Amino acid sequence: MRLDVLTLFPGILEGFFTSSIMARAVERGLVDYSLTDIREFATDKHHKCDDELFGGGAGMLMMPGPVSAALESVGARESRVVYVTPGGRLFNQAYARELASEEKLVILCGRYEGVDQRVIDRYVTDEISIGDYVLSSGETAALVIVDAIYRLIPGVITGESLDEESFEGGLLEYPQYTRPAVYDTMVVPDVLVSGHHANIVKWRMKKRLEKTLLYRPDLLQGKGLEGELRAMILELIGQGGEA
Ligand code: SAM
Repeated sequence: MRLDVLTLFPGILEGFFTSSIMARAVERGLVDYSLTDIREFATDKHHKCDDELFGGGAGMLMMPGPVSAALESVGARESRVVYVTPGGRLFNQAYARELASEEKLVILCGRYEGVDQRVIDRYVTDEISIGDYVLSSGETAALVIVDAIYRLIPGVITGESLDEESFEGGLLEYPQYTRPAVYDTMVVPDVLVSGHHANIVKWRMKKRLEKTLLYRPDLLQGKGLEGELRAMILELIGQGGEA
């Protein structure tokens, strides 16, 4: 997958692309990327990229000229272009999966009050929000999106299963434990050291349901749970969520 991120502050993003799993994905040719500094496309001697709002109001806006030139430089017209903005469609795991199947993705990071609407109208295919809060700039939002999608590219994550992670199958993940079995008087649940595979699977499913009911009951809505899952939910509800 090719990722082109356009930003006024490439330094915020560099460490992510040159570290850990992402660095390995790049090395193995699974991800190819560029960080484009929008300021390099400013035409005046001060490299000005922002200006006041027409109609008045506090704050500055990213000017269309430098942003358009930066977008053209990465071939944005032939690609899906994401603008990260609190005013966009809410990002989630399903959206991450959808974007992970793209061969090329351009991500535009906003700053100040955001970007001139004409740039959005001309180039942007997806306006995406990472949550109902306002960040000071788009770089951290872009990193959230990049991180959520690149790890779904086949071959990037090795030796770990993505199948039982939170949101897969519409459920959160079960609690996990590692050695030692007794830590500061706290003991790992018996079932996990029993060696009884079927019971472990059942326990984990029950815990996934319990956690989802507790924190994200919205994920279960319209899921049409049947059979054993339905029985587990009814049992959990009967116990007031305790298992
Ligand atoms: N004036 C904008 C508004 O009220 O919608 C907020 C601008 S914010 C201070 C500056 C930049 O941060 C935005 O252009 C966007 O790129 C990024 N940003 C802030 N919050 C975000 C969020 N929840 N999701 C995605 N990007 C966000």
